[in-house]
Amino acid sequence: MEITEVRVFLKDSPDKKLKAYATVTFDNAFVVRNIKIIEGTSGLFIAMPSRKIKQPCPKCGFKNEARSKYCNQCGAQLPFASRPVGEASLSNAQAEHKDIAHPITQSFRECLQKRVLEAYEQEKAKGAGSSSYSDFK
Ligand SMILES: [Zn+2]
Repeated sequence: MEITEVRVFLKDSPDKKLKAYATVTFDNAFVVRNIKIIEGTSGLFIAMPSRKIKQPCPKCGFKNEARSKYCNQCGAQLPFASRPVGEASLSNAQAEHKDIAHPITQSFRECLQKRVLEAYEQEKAKGAGSSSYSDFK
């Protein structure tokens, strides 16, 4: 599979870990949006689009965000809030997110990450003033 286009949308806030979003086209036929470019402790990496995992309330069935203590709908105490809050390590965050689309081989993941980060560096070199993030929400 070939990456035919990478578009990068810089985020304005320089203090945040989230640096930019990328839209990647494969084989001129398939587009994945919302790939995040994140500054981690050992450099930049990409995060594939993901959704938050929700857990249903045992009493009313309302889908609450993972790690909620009480149901947002009926107020019942939820049984799965065992982990301490505030310990927002990356592994915890990842445990609550499920990737929607992602490479399944290490080699393609590295290839994709390299291309996206190259496009990010190019976009950054052009200057952050011309960000088109506003039409990307
Ligand atoms: Zn409930």
